[in-house]
Amino acid sequence: MRRFFYIVLLVLIIGGFIYVYPEIEWSSPEIQVKLESENLGTRPFDIEVVDQGKGLKNVTVLLAGDHGESILVNKNYPEGVNGDKITVKLDPKKLGIKGGAAELKISAEDRSRLKIFSGNKTTINKKVNLDLVPPKLDVISTEHYINHGGSGFVVYKSSPDTVKSGVLIADYFFPGYKGNFTDEDVYLAFFAYPHDIEPDENIQIVAQDQAGNHKSAGLFYRLRDVNYRKSDINISERFVENVMVPIMEEDDTGASHKEIFLKVNNEMRKKNDATIKEVGSNSKGEMMWQGAFHQLSNSKVEANFADERTYILNEEPIDKQYHLGYDLAVTKRYPIEAANSGVVMYADELGIYGNTVMIDHGMGLLTLYGHMSSIDVKVGDTVQKNDIIGRTGQTGLAAGDHLHYGIYINGVAVRPIEWWDEKWIRDNVISKINEANGEFNSQDSETPSQN
Ligand SMILES: [Zn+2]
Repeated sequence: MRRFFYIVLLVLIIGGFIYVYPEIEWSSPEIQVKLESENLGTRPFDIEVVDQGKGLKNVTVLLAGDHGESILVNKNYPEGVNGDKITVKLDPKKLGIKGGAAELKISAEDRSRLKIFSGNKTTINKKVNLDLVPPKLDVISTEHYINHGGSGFVVYKSSPDTVKSGVLIADYFFPGYKGNFTDEDVYLAFFAYPHDIEPDENIQIVAQDQAGNHKSAGLFYRLRDVNYRKSDINISERFVENVMVPIMEEDDTGASHKEIFLKVNNEMRKKNDATIKEVGSNSKGEMMWQGAFHQLSNSKVEANFADERTYILNEEPIDKQYHLGYDLAVTKRYPIEAANSGVVMYADELGIYGNTVMIDHGMGLLTLYGHMSSIDVKVGDTVQKNDIIGRTGQTGLAAGDHLHYGIYINGVAVRPIEWWDEKWIRDNVISKINEANGEFNSQDSETPSQN
């Protein structure tokens, strides 16, 4: 009798186990909180929840602080959902919360029957510092006169919690740099008014803190219209054969002259300009230059900045591009002087620009020298204004011996003529620094070395 009882009991246990087993899972849901810092602001953040077994049942996100506890998320799932990504955004007004210490409590429950009917539950508590106040931003400089396609310069102050700030115009961002004044919160920023954007764009000074709170301030400026030239350039079959085919990276067998032209003048140009932007984004945070930039001695300008060129092959217009620099010609293999002091960032071949040198002058400002026959500097070299960096030539996409000279701010080409002009630099850069010096530098400290 006893033996029979044990057998029945064993059968029941095994049977029950077989019945329940598929409903059981041993792993609990996993929660990942994607917070960029422990400072939590109005920037949305993501929570990723994954359950390996039976799927999710419920996810809750609570915010506990001085104000009590508020529910940010309470989400139930139908059967068969194994993962979710939830974007959480705080609305301080709706929640009635202020800044200070708080805690995020994130819980996820799955459909397992391990803990009869309640499932596996994972809870993560994360201490955060609620920061709902955006940076304080003041534009200090005044009188911003900008040429369309030219450069601008601004001095502004942003509160100490700022982690990123600069000038925003259309989709272009130009970072600001600090550390030039006794007052650590004062920033300098050079920016471009790109030649190919509309003449009525808003220029914004923007700042962001660690919690992702944003502040922006409009910049008052006056834009001067600049007439850029348009021209047609006839391309000969011989030019394609002799100049373009040799600089192509891939085999061109079977490609038509038109295809070869577009591969070089269009695709390769884009790739090269992306390299220039990349090099320009590694600029040093200090101003390494002084006074006007130097125009290649004895040179005259043969092609202008932002000339719009329509390329014609066999009477068919096949491409349109802007010429983003000056072409300067003297004599063959003429020694090229560095336009101003800085550090060599690039000294190599660069597609349509041929043998190319790029010099970083700091705070996003970069000069480019193209079509060189020889290069006399290497990456990392410090150069002074007028140091010889190589010789002119016709490497790359060039029809004769000349220097292609470009100046860029954070990878955006700007009118070189302004930087050659002592008066323009004095009126638009130095005077603004000097004004700020009076206000934000103590007497005995060193001012940015400009005169
Ligand atoms: Zn050129």
